[in-house]
Amino acid sequence: MTRGDYAAVDHGEWDRIKTRLKKEFGESAFKSWVKPIVLDGIRNGEVELAVPTRFMRDWVLTHYADRIRALWLSENPAVKRVSIKVASGAPAAVPAAPGRTSAAQLPTPPTPQRAPVPFGSDLSASLDPRYTFTNFIVGKPNEFAYAAAKRVAEADEISFNPLFLYGGVGLGKTHLMHAIAWEIRQRAPQRRVIYMSAEKFMYSFVRALRNQDTVSFKEQFRAVDVLMIDDVQFIAGKDATQEEFFHTFNALVDQGRQIVLSADKSPSNMEEIGDRLRSRLASGLVADLHPTTFELRLSILDAKAESLGADVPVKVKEFLAHKITSNVRELEGALTRLCAHSQLVGSEITLETAQTLLQDLLRAHDRKLTMEEIQRRVAEHYKIRLSDMSSARRARVVARPRQVAMYLAKQLTSRSLPEIGRAFGGRDHTTVMHAVRKIEELCRDDVAFAEDVELLTRMLEN
Ligand code: ADP
Ligand code: MG
Repeated sequence: MTRGDYAAVDHGEWDRIKTRLKKEFGESAFKSWVKPIVLDGIRNGEVELAVPTRFMRDWVLTHYADRIRALWLSENPAVKRVSIKVASGAPAAVPAAPGRTSAAQLPTPPTPQRAPVPFGSDLSASLDPRYTFTNFIVGKPNEFAYAAAKRVAEADEISFNPLFLYGGVGLGKTHLMHAIAWEIRQRAPQRRVIYMSAEKFMYSFVRALRNQDTVSFKEQFRAVDVLMIDDVQFIAGKDATQEEFFHTFNALVDQGRQIVLSADKSPSNMEEIGDRLRSRLASGLVADLHPTTFELRLSILDAKAESLGADVPVKVKEFLAHKITSNVRELEGALTRLCAHSQLVGSEITLETAQTLLQDLLRAHDRKLTMEEIQRRVAEHYKIRLSDMSSARRARVVARPRQVAMYLAKQLTSRSLPEIGRAFGGRDHTTVMHAVRKIEELCRDDVAFAEDVELLTRMLEN
């Protein structure tokens, strides 16, 4: 590549942007993801950034690109685009030296490897003391998952491997995983348990790659008795991590170690992972946590009120259990808010105070957005016929708005991909998935388009 046609690079701008990013995302995210980015040059209004691996590029693109772009724009109005490429020679963790003014000096020469960071005790995330089996309220929707978790925690021999827990947000997956870890810690303290989020797994893996220390990374995991990874949907589609996870997983299963995983969907619905991994994930016991019932919500409120030492009238609990149906986290949040308020102002909790205090929360739940409504608003916005949302026409002028509507249906309703497909003229769920991906991609690459989608989202949410 010739470097002569680069505009002179003002590293001061990039330094200021990095300082901002550090403030916004925090020290550790900054160190892992922002610091290694090298400013390669600015050409024809395009800022060219480089990172050492493809994986990092994908990560930065999905998590930080929007913000980086916005900050560049505010620093330098001449900037039109920001691109991120993989430069194999890019130093892994060393940003370009400050004060450099000419791109001719790039790329930055590789600096000596930093000492590898040893893996150790910090590998497992800390456990929430409230998340125990005793504190888990069992009802019809979660009794199977509860029983399976309990079995894994109490068994001396492995009966199913992996245990795969799945269910929507806030239904108790993390709670059950912590409960397993607590129980094992108590019953068999010599057993080595690692509990971590898939995000952390990925982060550790990338750090190991960067420090060229993947051997000890692997050894750490392969030395455990029980490996628990939370929210594995997070790894799906991230090829390098997925591959590494698969190997670790296989090695552990082969050695007869227990694996527990959680995700927001079942293995068969994890579209982005390969068949091998999918069938491996489903080869043990797959247990789902169903949405809560009124009875379960009421029992959870009873238990929670008691643990808070709060006197909550039955009427109020019933009211909450009727109104807040989305997930347990919100339910708990509502109750905590009521209790905190009554303690602060020294008043009793009544139905009236509940209604006033939780107004915003309740309103959000009162209104259920329908797919029909989404289709109508999107059709209006793009000036196409409503019937084209379900027609077979493939012309871009109707196909794109249709994809936007599918995307919004996925984002703003709790409908499944097949359900959405049916509402759009009986399309296949893979078509919906493709639409969602396509729109995400366009939003990333095209600011104007992203704003359009954002606008529609806000209109529909109000
Ligand atoms: P997930 O990991 O599935 O998103 P969490 O395990 O984080 O959900 O649960 C969200 C909150 O709801 C936590 O505070 C958890 O303790 C609580 N919770 C969920 N299900 C139950 C239950 N059956 N009994 C008691 N608390 C629950
Ligand atoms: Mg969770």
